[in-house]
Amino acid sequence: MYWRYLKVEPNCPSCGHSLSQYPADDGPAYFTILIVAHLFVAPLLLFPVIWQAPPLLVVPGALIPLGLLTLILLPRIKGGFIGVLYANGVKDADQRLHTADAAE
Ligand SMILES: [Zn+2]
Repeated sequence: MYWRYLKVEPNCPSCGHSLSQYPADDGPAYFTILIVAHLFVAPLLLFPVIWQAPPLLVVPGALIPLGLLTLILLPRIKGGFIGVLYANGVKDADQRLHTADAAE
């Protein structure tokens, strides 16, 4: 589905369906942050070791795994997000519906 880290192939390599018509925009990043923050960062703060250990150990010990987790999850969530756009029939042509200017 990707030809680089987050660059979606213009057409599906299996069936040729046009993938470039789905406007993922910031949705995958939003959901990745939502998932990582709620499922990992918030529970991490409940462990007393986070507050008692030296910051020079806690900061890299927490940020490096969380950064790797985010980078691992992001392409998968983007793929799922594009799948949801496909299932709901949301395409680039509908983008005008997403903006606040549509109300004017
Ligand atoms: Zn396909």
